[in-house]
Amino acid sequence: MRRFWCDCGHPLFFESTSCNNCGAQVGYDPRSGDMLPLRGNRTSSLFQAQGDFDWCANGQNHAVCNWLVPADQKGNLCEGCRFNRTIPWLGKEENIQRWKGFEVAKKRLLYTLTSLQLPLVDGSTDPERGLLFDFIEDQRSNPVMLESFVSTGYLSGVITINAMEADDLAREQERVRMNESYRTLLGHLRHESGHFFQAYVLHDEALNSEFRRLFGDPDTDYQAALQRHYDLGPAEGWSNYYISSYASAHPVEDWAECWSHYLHMIDTLETAAAYRMIESPDLQRDFRSIANQWRNLSVVMNELNRSIGLADAYPFVINEWVEQKLAFVGRSIEELCLKSRYS
Ligand SMILES: [Zn+2]
Ligand SMILES: [Zn+2]
Ligand SMILES: [Zn+2]
Repeated sequence: MRRFWCDCGHPLFFESTSCNNCGAQVGYDPRSGDMLPLRGNRTSSLFQAQGDFDWCANGQNHAVCNWLVPADQKGNLCEGCRFNRTIPWLGKEENIQRWKGFEVAKKRLLYTLTSLQLPLVDGSTDPERGLLFDFIEDQRSNPVMLESFVSTGYLSGVITINAMEADDLAREQERVRMNESYRTLLGHLRHESGHFFQAYVLHDEALNSEFRRLFGDPDTDYQAALQRHYDLGPAEGWSNYYISSYASAHPVEDWAECWSHYLHMIDTLETAAAYRMIESPDLQRDFRSIANQWRNLSVVMNELNRSIGLADAYPFVINEWVEQKLAFVGRSIEELCLKSRYS
């Protein structure tokens, strides 16, 4: 993530709604990729000619979004919230808090996908090729829901996230139950976005054959593979070949796990570079140098966390095999961007 500053010179964050120094109300403008004041007269703004900005309707009505829409579109949803197909019932206060957590994570995902220049449009605008999000409850958190069990996943252009994943206690209990070392909303969203782009990758002949070489046959019986994973646990020695035990369940899960780790890496490297802790990573260079930069940074992150009594920030090892798969994710992203630019 890049850094942002208020007109008064004070730092702002991607999630900021106001400046702690001068009190100006601010929000994120997805078109300029900058934090802008809501009703200031910022002369440097590229969009000054179009007038000032207002928060998105979800920001104005529920305080769950800090993205901006031009003031003459007051009451409209921002570019990020237009990706929502379903949100949970808002009669419960905790659902608004959960929704806010979801929006924060989703906006960070959209920021990274957009800055990589991946082809991305919401599914209301383009029902054929667009992406949508269902953020929903099931009977476990709300007895009046029709569905008894909604699992987090991806199907036909829709990423579904169970609202309980935005509940810290419920998510931590699930993490322990599943014996995972890491479980976050952002991690879920990045993983599921990998399944969305997987179709584009498999559609390309050259990428498809490399996918098969690195990850295996994507058409392997999915239900049977997942059942085996949950019944018997991961194969012994999985950590020699996979980034996580779940990645060993099926080739497409391996791909989605690597995709999400690639996004973790480049977002965090960008943040560290923005704070001048490291040199800016050059995504065009060979992946080896990026992987090494990441290994060094993640060790520091883990040590810093341990220094204040927290668990490791990045409890994973990128071995030789995993590095090759991550490099392929990087190449696939480059190809998808090139294709979308010339199609
Ligand atoms: Zn300020
Ligand atoms: Zn919004
Ligand atoms: Zn998956």
